[in-house]
Amino acid sequence: MEEKNLNFLEEIIEKDLAEGKYESILTRFPPEPNGYLHLGHAKSLCINFGLAQKYGGKTNLRYDDTNPTKEDTEYVDAIKEDIKWLGFQWEKECYASDYFDQLYEWAEQMILKGQAYVDDQTQEEISQGRGTVETPGRESPWRNRTPEENLDLFRRMKAGEFADGEKVLRAKIDMAHPNMMFRDPILYRIKHARHHRTGDKWCIYPMYDYTHGQCDSIENITHSICTLEFDVHRPLYDWFIHTLGIFPSHQYEFARLNLTYTLMSKRKLLELVQKGIVSGWDDPRMPTLCGVRRRGYTAEALKAFCEKIGVSKRDQLMDIQLLEWCVRQDLNERSNRYMVVQDPLKVTITNWEKGKVEWFDAPLNPADPEGPSRKVPFTGEIYIEKADFMEDAPKKYFRLKPDGEVRFKYSYIVKCDEVIKDANGNVTELKCSIDPSSKPGAGEWRSVKGTIHWVSAEYAKSIELRNYDRLFTLADMSQVPDDKDYKDFLNPDSLTVTEGLAEPALLEDDGRIAVQFERTGYYIKDKDSTAGKTVFNKTTALKDSFKF
Ligand code: ATP
Ligand code: MG
Repeated sequence: MEEKNLNFLEEIIEKDLAEGKYESILTRFPPEPNGYLHLGHAKSLCINFGLAQKYGGKTNLRYDDTNPTKEDTEYVDAIKEDIKWLGFQWEKECYASDYFDQLYEWAEQMILKGQAYVDDQTQEEISQGRGTVETPGRESPWRNRTPEENLDLFRRMKAGEFADGEKVLRAKIDMAHPNMMFRDPILYRIKHARHHRTGDKWCIYPMYDYTHGQCDSIENITHSICTLEFDVHRPLYDWFIHTLGIFPSHQYEFARLNLTYTLMSKRKLLELVQKGIVSGWDDPRMPTLCGVRRRGYTAEALKAFCEKIGVSKRDQLMDIQLLEWCVRQDLNERSNRYMVVQDPLKVTITNWEKGKVEWFDAPLNPADPEGPSRKVPFTGEIYIEKADFMEDAPKKYFRLKPDGEVRFKYSYIVKCDEVIKDANGNVTELKCSIDPSSKPGAGEWRSVKGTIHWVSAEYAKSIELRNYDRLFTLADMSQVPDDKDYKDFLNPDSLTVTEGLAEPALLEDDGRIAVQFERTGYYIKDKDSTAGKTVFNKTTALKDSFKF
């Protein structure tokens, strides 16, 4: 038999399909439109869409929009854009609010069966009355209202006769239940707020537990997959479905994604945006999908990462370096290469005819040397990195040194003949000469130990570089001490802006994905670029320090 390495969700689905429990599977991705999607959501998306794809099923996009004061169409639209960017296509676009009428009808049905009642207690009285895990709760004085009275009050709640918080509808289950969730959970609360889809139609809104399972059931979701913190809700999820006698969707839980140096709570991310700590939801330091996209992470890299971390049932803190590794892996294969000098040292070629320019052919990707290329101009004045020259160089230093030779990538072998310094002894310029016979394609190839990147001073374009570091300094952001705030761990150096000098072809790049600045790192052109200044975000550094 073929050996299969299935995760626990695949095992469940294969069993369900083998037993004929379902003809095909239907999953859903249920975001609340109260913020932008983040890397954690990418994991959930990959699981929900991935399972459906693998087993020939489908996935609905369902907005869990039951909290009108926090939700907005801005988020609805952004969520769709992010899912499409990841390359997933949902079957139906649904909204919990589409089912408000049905949910309301079921509530009346429960009232008539004595399964729900209107409670006049305050929020505080209700929470105090819940008891604790050790002690049973206390029954509400309003618990034994007749179905007729409850129906009348509930209809008046809906009609807007009461103020926010004055009444709630609760399920009548068991105030001593060992699972606190069953201690007469709230089904509806009054909220005089305009909803981004239903407008002013409703002033009562259903609670999460009363909504989620029923929505799954209405859509005939077979496998409702969510994060572990919902496992305590599952019995209640089943209870509503059973009590209402509707399609039996089932809930399964997996471990949420946590990443080192990263926060993934929408509430906190929103605070960073609102307080101006970051430039917006798409600040390249944000763990949002629009943020990492702007940073230059690819959808392919994110999916590869989700594949690598797999699906588990135990919470884990993943190393962000694994994600960065996936990004590098993908960009290394696919990105175009360009030369950019960040800390320039002037090199004058003394045996170069004044005004002469020679254009070299350089492949855009070394993995495909015969593939598309760009043209790199060589002239009498060149910039190299200061770090690529050393005056008192050790023996094993293979970059440029006095009387040493190095190849200027794609072009000549260059020899350093003279070092020019200022009054303080700082090196300001190198006088060098080329070996004309070392021209690529002309005669026999001569190799030297070092190859460095460079740009022509005459043709170089000045660009702005935005270099990013981790937004937070604490590896495990779930371990913020009680006497501190997560904002105490913001990294003050998470953004540094520098300048670079780029070979001209960089500015003609198609911008499809991030590019590699040779020997430096991956960068992507930013939307803040203007006609006068092109801005690049640093996606990630190259893996290894260079050995020549
Ligand atoms: P947050 O806590 O960041 O506000 P949320 O759970 O409230 O997130 P939802 O919009 O309700 O956000 O999430 C949509 C789906 O994504 C849910 O099924 C949720 O379980 C899942 N999800 C959210 N965060 C993560 C995460 N870090 N890892 C995996 N899945 C996640
Ligand atoms: Mg949620």
